[in-house]
Amino acid sequence: MTCHHEPACPAADSKDARAARVSSDHWEQGWALLCNGLLVFDDEGTLTPHLTAA
Ligand SMILES: [Zn+2]
Repeated sequence: MTCHHEPACPAADSKDARAARVSSDHWEQGWALLCNGLLVFDDEGTLTPHLTAA
């Protein structure tokens, strides 16, 4: 995770992880990548692939 925001975005494993800023949005495909690496889907689901790999 490389966050240059001020204040820094919440970590992907924090309870407010979805408050992180959008890094790359693809809402036309139904998802977006947040600054902290969290993938969010427009059905409210989330996926944290870099955490499951740890
Ligand atoms: Zn950030």
